[in-house]
Amino acid sequence: MQLNLLETPIEYLKGVGPKKAEIFKKEFQIFTFQDLLFYYPYRHVDKSQIHTISAIEAEGVFMQFKGKIISYETVGERHTKRLVAQFTDETGVLELVWFNSLKWIENMLAERREYIIFGKPTLFNHRWNMSHPEMLDPEKQMNSGLSMAFQPLYNTSDKAKKSGLDSRSISKIMITLLNQVQEIITERLSDDIIQKYKLLSLKEALINIHYPESQESLNKALLRLKFDELFFVQLRLLTQKLVHTQRSSGHLFSTVGETFNTYYKTYLPFELTNAQKRVIKEIRADIGSGKQMNRLLQGDVGSGKTITALLVMLIAKDNGYQSCLMAPTEILATQHFESITKLLKDMPVKVGFLTGSTKSKERKSLFEELQTGEIDILIGTHALLENNVIFNNLGLVIIDEQHRFGVEQRSKMWKKNNIPPHILVMTATPIPRTLAMTLYGDLDVSIIDELPKGRKPIVTRHLYEKNRLGMFGFMQKEIAAGRQVFVVYPLIKESEKMDLFDLMAGYDLMADCFPIPLYQIGIVHGKMKAKEKDFVMNRFVKGEINILLSTTVIEVGIDVPNASVMVIENAERFGLSQLHQLRGRVGRGADQSYCLLMTKHELSTESKQRLKAMTDTNDGFEIANIDLRLRGPGDLQGTRQSGELDFKLADLAKDEKLVLFTRNLAKEILEEDPDLQIARNQSMGKYLHEIMKKQHFFGNIS
Ligand code: ADP
Ligand code: MG
Repeated sequence: MQLNLLETPIEYLKGVGPKKAEIFKKEFQIFTFQDLLFYYPYRHVDKSQIHTISAIEAEGVFMQFKGKIISYETVGERHTKRLVAQFTDETGVLELVWFNSLKWIENMLAERREYIIFGKPTLFNHRWNMSHPEMLDPEKQMNSGLSMAFQPLYNTSDKAKKSGLDSRSISKIMITLLNQVQEIITERLSDDIIQKYKLLSLKEALINIHYPESQESLNKALLRLKFDELFFVQLRLLTQKLVHTQRSSGHLFSTVGETFNTYYKTYLPFELTNAQKRVIKEIRADIGSGKQMNRLLQGDVGSGKTITALLVMLIAKDNGYQSCLMAPTEILATQHFESITKLLKDMPVKVGFLTGSTKSKERKSLFEELQTGEIDILIGTHALLENNVIFNNLGLVIIDEQHRFGVEQRSKMWKKNNIPPHILVMTATPIPRTLAMTLYGDLDVSIIDELPKGRKPIVTRHLYEKNRLGMFGFMQKEIAAGRQVFVVYPLIKESEKMDLFDLMAGYDLMADCFPIPLYQIGIVHGKMKAKEKDFVMNRFVKGEINILLSTTVIEVGIDVPNASVMVIENAERFGLSQLHQLRGRVGRGADQSYCLLMTKHELSTESKQRLKAMTDTNDGFEIANIDLRLRGPGDLQGTRQSGELDFKLADLAKDEKLVLFTRNLAKEILEEDPDLQIARNQSMGKYLHEIMKKQHFFGNIS
């Protein structure tokens, strides 16, 4: 019964009606009373204070005064015609001016009562003026029962304004709504939590987010509503996690056997970093627990995720299971296949390779070997997801560069064995902690936060056109020393001719300054056929090309240790995490590497901040945090479609403490009461159930 009122269609609210209801639906996606209740103002104007006219100091600030009209007159002719009134509060005189509705205003002023006026004073002819002030009658109190100390301002649109839904009329409708529904707003947090953390009730919070009594109560309302946004997301994610990890069984990898040990002791080409060792331990604890692993492995570019993944795949083999490693592009998959085959060349481990371009004859024998279990490790692209790829006993799935794969695609991997395989998702895009907790809140997280020994930090410089010749000279020197150079041009959309033009113009210039046969230049871009692309890439990998010009197709994963210079043209057009990814293509060998960011001269403040971040630090996590601050979570790479980040008030960059706090609280509560059945938790359980029902909810997904 109570719920019904809040779910009433918006047209039934007094003052709305069918026409405005249409606008509410079309422009603001507000369909019901409840939707409107949660349509928060973006700002408030402080009307809690009465100022004196003598205290006016600056233009453009909203101020409120209380006083009388002492005189008024109409001046000017036709379209210069206006009404000018003198308003005083005993401390000074303010001129009020109206340009239209003159008759109506004149009638009002004729009463010569006391007024509260509100607006922005401006200085004109050495006198303080206010045009079209908002006028309130101090005796005629709004009997809304709500505080009018702060006026809410609501986002609206031109179309809505034309139909009479400007901010002011929305705020009036909001008063009607609040009066009608405030008594039936049901609490969803437990009293316990509300009292312990001194939160406002949901009812008080909703009243005060629209019509706060004071700045303090507005702050409290904001806190309570942000708390709800973050807390219930965490409660949902942790509930999902409980479902996967504690209740669904996984393959038990109980031993670390001969394959792993032989490889580790005899063939591992280098000593693992401490971070790699720690991560392998964390993974071993998961896969040895009998529960299914769902783990996210974060590690900056070049931190050595591949070898870490390989070692886990060897443990899978020791326990009689097959593994697969899935990469987002053909080039990357090929590189993984080649490097892993090389690493395992002296080991009795059979590695298969499958992509979209694998020939049907090869496919046939590959599929057979997969089904008989002859193949231990299958490496490939999303071709691995196809239904006809059937394993004998798949126990472990590793997904590299996670953000290129959609959630639904990943869920397909779950179905490739009766008991779902362990899942390790690897990403080189470091994600700030709060974002990871929210986006991947149902995954466990491991971090490789250390680069292999001997890596020299990449030297990054910001250059302008006037430095171009110097830069070319530097490239020549590096090439003479046997190194290779990447030059990357922006490509926002692969179809944009403009971008391709940049690349081609860049080529002409380069070909002029680095002539054949002294220099070999190669080009790669997204419009090329995969075969052609691979051909050029392979020549670069083999060292036959000195300078590789490309668009961002080389962004992910490519490993060419001999390349020591990364030039990024029009660097201002790249996002920060993209710049960092590109920089990660160099600095992979023992030589000193360089990243040169070429930009035009005039830059926006944000571009400057991005470039400064790049020259200041090599640390991917620091870069990710700066990126989150600069752009907000919605724009971060790979997170665009995520509904998880759809907060109205909470901000993952600014509200880090609250994210951590609500996560811990949700954890504590679920540890004690996983189904939220204890009396005091029931209201939370009920609300959680409602959100889960609404959410497009893939139960069992990594
Ligand atoms: P990413 O984490 O970006 O995928 P890779 O796995 O490609 O990084 O590793 C980058 C390079 O570092 C590879 O050439 C790899 O062989 C090498 N590498 C990985 N771990 C170590 C280590 N512990 N010591 C030295 N080199 C390592
Ligand atoms: Mg990698």
